[in-house]
Amino acid sequence: MTKTASVSPSEKSSSLDPVANFIGGKWSVPKTAKTTPVYNPSTGEIIAQTPMCGEKEVDLAVKDAHRAFADWSETPPVERCRILFRYKMYLEEEFEPLARSICREHGKNIMEARGDLRRGIEVVEYACGIPELLKGEVLENVARGIDCEMVRQAHGVCVGICPYNFPALVPMWMFPLAIACGNSFILKLSEKVPLTGIRLIELLEKAGLPPGVLNVVHGGRECVDALLTHPLVRAISFVGSSPVAKYIFDKGTQHGKRVQAAGGAKNYVFVLPDADFKNSVTGLVDAAFGCAGQRCMAGSTAVTIGQAADRLLEPLAEVVKAIEVGPTDRTHGARMGAVISAQHLERVSGLISSGVKEGASLLVDGRGLKVKEAPQGFYMGPTIVDRVEAKMEIAREEVFGPVLNIMRFADLDAAIEMANATPFGNGACIYTQSGKAAREFKHRIKAGMVGINVGVPAPLAYFPFSGWDHSFFGDLHLQGKEAILFYTRAKVTTSRWFRHGEGDIWHKE
Ligand code: NAD
Repeated sequence: MTKTASVSPSEKSSSLDPVANFIGGKWSVPKTAKTTPVYNPSTGEIIAQTPMCGEKEVDLAVKDAHRAFADWSETPPVERCRILFRYKMYLEEEFEPLARSICREHGKNIMEARGDLRRGIEVVEYACGIPELLKGEVLENVARGIDCEMVRQAHGVCVGICPYNFPALVPMWMFPLAIACGNSFILKLSEKVPLTGIRLIELLEKAGLPPGVLNVVHGGRECVDALLTHPLVRAISFVGSSPVAKYIFDKGTQHGKRVQAAGGAKNYVFVLPDADFKNSVTGLVDAAFGCAGQRCMAGSTAVTIGQAADRLLEPLAEVVKAIEVGPTDRTHGARMGAVISAQHLERVSGLISSGVKEGASLLVDGRGLKVKEAPQGFYMGPTIVDRVEAKMEIAREEVFGPVLNIMRFADLDAAIEMANATPFGNGACIYTQSGKAAREFKHRIKAGMVGINVGVPAPLAYFPFSGWDHSFFGDLHLQGKEAILFYTRAKVTTSRWFRHGEGDIWHKE
């Protein structure tokens, strides 16, 4: 890689130049032959290129992070958190431009983009409490005159590998807590949405983070493989699809790294006949079609019990048909935006068609939608697929698009049995006015994040993002105290002090 002078990527001239890596406190465009285009999904335009880096760039970044770790890990936690306080201030100052940047490269609407960023800032706020969060434990007199203390120490170089669907939140699940704990960090943003992440790191640099503590390297599989196998990398955080999460977990742990790998999902929203239907419809629409369904917590399947379908479907279809779809990168953007790419659009359409072929029926069909003002955008209208059965491909696969499946069950037991048979285990919700049914559901459902009359029960920064089974590979989750445990390791010291010249007085007969 040829290093050039550090030019801030947000000041560079052409949007078609490859975006820069950030290594050793310098922004520089790697001289890799391969790049991948970054699109504005609202318009279909190419807005940047992501360089596909490999072993050489990864090695440079990791070695640099390893050097920076020596001093950063000795920096008092209170000094580390002062930088994070400044960072939080800059994030607030630049809140709207950052949210606009999310709309531009992802396609979600401005309210969703603000939520993406706000949830990320909340992790920074949590990380600002690091002196309290890092405190250890002491027990005096574990035996006479012997004390035991446990402290938590940083690992060294940690890595974060991100998906495309939350350009701000997911990177911020990772690096603020990792560096607050005293680690240095390599961030591998999604090659599909690198622009917001780059700006997040420029602001961290402006807040005073020392060079090398956080490095950014762009790329895809080759870059990830180099990170997974580099001997100086100690811990890896991953968020993305389940097959890749499993691959990261297996390969990372085989190479002796600590790994947390969050994967995909299939989240069920149960609607009981006694539900408050007005609120159930609002909750379901947001859960299924928010971010055009590209959320790991998307409520992508409504599970109706007994007569609930009869009361739910008509008002639901009416609301869904009225959702305005279009560009979200304008001042007054549409309610629902595009999906991330033309290929993804095709995949989602294919899954709907396969559902119909296997016997499901279309209540609302959003395929083939053309948006006049943006004919090249990657649009699909909201879609409702009714009478979906567990064996169908559309029921088994994570669709990750604006598609709501409807499944019908005679009773709660049969529905819970179906939901618990899925390999995933991220989220599940119930709409009911019955405390007994809600309690039964909460207790028996196989999912790590549960909502009761809440459609998207994504936990906030101070709780773990607690997926189960194929939705999470590892032990300690992202966010909350589990993240602090993940980014540190325990050291227990047992100590005894002798009185000078008297020997071990405590053990004298
Ligand atoms: P993805 O798995 O395709 O990519 C995620 C990251 O892995 C990217 O940085 C990508 O460059 C890298 N990658 C892709 N293929 C790879 C391979 N074969 N080997 C090594 N690295 C590879 O995911 P995506 O499409 O960017 O994001 C959507 C997925 O993320 C969905 O499945 C969604 O449910 C999931 N997600 C999960 C959570 C969670 O908390 N469980 C949160 C957000 C997103």
